[in-house]
Amino acid sequence: ELANRMAERVADVVKALMQSGIMATQNQSIDADTAELIIEEFGHRVTRVSDSDVEDVIDSVDDSEEDLMPRPPVITVMGHVDHGKTSLLDAIRNAKVVSGEAGGITQHIGAYQVKTDDGALLTFLDTPGHAAFTSMRSRGAQVTDIVILVVAADDAVMPQTIEAINHAKAAEVPMIVAINKIDRPEANPDKVRTDLLQHEVIVEKMSGDVQDVEVSAITGQGLDELLEAIALQAEILELKANPGRAAQGAVIEAQLDVGRGPVATVLVQNGTLRQGDIFVVGEQWGRVRAMENDQGKRVKEAGPSVPVEVLGLNGTPEAGDVLNVVDTEAQAREIAAYREQVAKDKRAAAGAATTLEQLMAKAKADENVAELPILVKADVQGSAEAIVQAMEKIGNDEVRVRVLHSGVGAITETDVGLAEASGAPIMGFNVRANAPARNSANQKSVEIRYYSVIYDLVDDVKAAASGLLSAEI
Ligand code: GDP
Repeated sequence: ELANRMAERVADVVKALMQSGIMATQNQSIDADTAELIIEEFGHRVTRVSDSDVEDVIDSVDDSEEDLMPRPPVITVMGHVDHGKTSLLDAIRNAKVVSGEAGGITQHIGAYQVKTDDGALLTFLDTPGHAAFTSMRSRGAQVTDIVILVVAADDAVMPQTIEAINHAKAAEVPMIVAINKIDRPEANPDKVRTDLLQHEVIVEKMSGDVQDVEVSAITGQGLDELLEAIALQAEILELKANPGRAAQGAVIEAQLDVGRGPVATVLVQNGTLRQGDIFVVGEQWGRVRAMENDQGKRVKEAGPSVPVEVLGLNGTPEAGDVLNVVDTEAQAREIAAYREQVAKDKRAAAGAATTLEQLMAKAKADENVAELPILVKADVQGSAEAIVQAMEKIGNDEVRVRVLHSGVGAITETDVGLAEASGAPIMGFNVRANAPARNSANQKSVEIRYYSVIYDLVDDVKAAASGLLSAEI
């Protein structure tokens, strides 16, 4: 990759590395300092891209108080399964979205906006439940301003209700309780209110400060009150953004569309996103080719809290990825490539702890690893059996060696695949790896160790296992 970027030959780069005392192969990662030395040696200029560069690009605008304008709240609906989350979202959309938008066909882009009778705009995220809420948060996008906690009046507070409460509290997002299915004859809203007390949600009717509204997603009863409650809560929050700056947003959902390529619904969080803007989003980048709103209409720009479907991405981002508009395509490419590399390194580090040393280090970091997986290949059946028996004797209640597979003959690609999947090294006794296996092991960073004395092999595994043991203490 480095050779490629410098437009130099791989062999020359490997040679330069060797001259600096680094025995690197083609696919090996080298650290940034080494890369910098090599690049300079070849007479090229180094531009380092790092998280702080990305932040520099992104935080170059400081929103001053007078630039800030009120923005609509973003609402997520949560609650137990079957309590009516989807029905409620549909009811609100059907009741409110089309008014004044003749010919507008609502399309599902993962979020929609409605206008209350008082003219307040509200943005609803269309994926109910806390799974989406949490996964977005874990990717760094906190988009929700208000959580609607749906509890069915003919049921009670259920496990997922409690989870939803905990997620909202963890994210420090205010809640409004929608007591749904109020049309049902067996509805008992006061039971819901008392139930909630046990989870430290004290609604207004119980003299607390959490708004509660009785609704029916089926009859439409209480919907207007619910929307008013949201608008009131939003006013209290004094939500603001600066429509004048370069846009920043979060991906609500994204997919690869056969006809249109990668498509992402982006919720603009700050600034204004415009057609033609160049942006980076997670590990992807792009230029806004076209945008459509939740009515399926083409729009040229989208301001704070507005969800739009964006075309013009070079790849499909993930829900929760953050989008930032940048100045140049070069910047966008550079940041996306940098992030991709960081993500790759992370995956490699997490997935493939396949040398004995790494396994020991991993065991020290993670007390639950009390098992040392290995693969054994030997020249004859007798040796393989002897090794497996010796392995089984190593360890005690807390640690044991687990022979994933033992066999006779050369080490093959299949062995490497298994070793990689289980994070195990391969121990070869009087056998070698064939060429495809060697390549594959190199690529996947699977360690292959060769032995011709059983005692040496057993000794190495014992040392690794005792590393695990000492990690336990
Ligand atoms: P979700 O799993 O929370 O999204 O719940 P759904 O919206 O799928 O609703 C579950 C079931 O409850 C469906 O059969 C709905 O028709 C029904 N339901 C939802 N809201 C109401 C309501 O206000 N009144 C009545 N009677 N039924 C409702």
